[in-house]
Amino acid sequence: MARAKKKTAAPPAVVRHRPKVVRAVDGTGTVYRLVCPCGTTGREWYGRGPAQEELERHLAALPVVPAAQQCQAPRRHDRRAWEPCLVCELQTALFDLEVAR
Ligand SMILES: [Zn+2]
Ligand SMILES: [Zn+2]
Repeated sequence: MARAKKKTAAPPAVVRHRPKVVRAVDGTGTVYRLVCPCGTTGREWYGRGPAQEELERHLAALPVVPAAQQCQAPRRHDRRAWEPCLVCELQTALFDLEVAR
């Protein structure tokens, strides 16, 4: 396995995973394909089902969000279940400080 460069600081731009299945028409018919803003694209399928399965596999492969980073207000913070929320993490940290006192 290639060793990825590790950053100690939080990366400034968080890659967002908002995968969706897009439909396109090629020479042979309608094809479905998974695309995600992170750069992941699936292969072309002639049905939506397998593309949707790829989408679910993509989300399942993402790292689990630590409890402290789980968003308590996903709508307000524009977060999905698989995205860590730094706003909530900060609030939780502050809360813990209050409790510890
Ligand atoms: Zn992605
Ligand atoms: Zn949040």
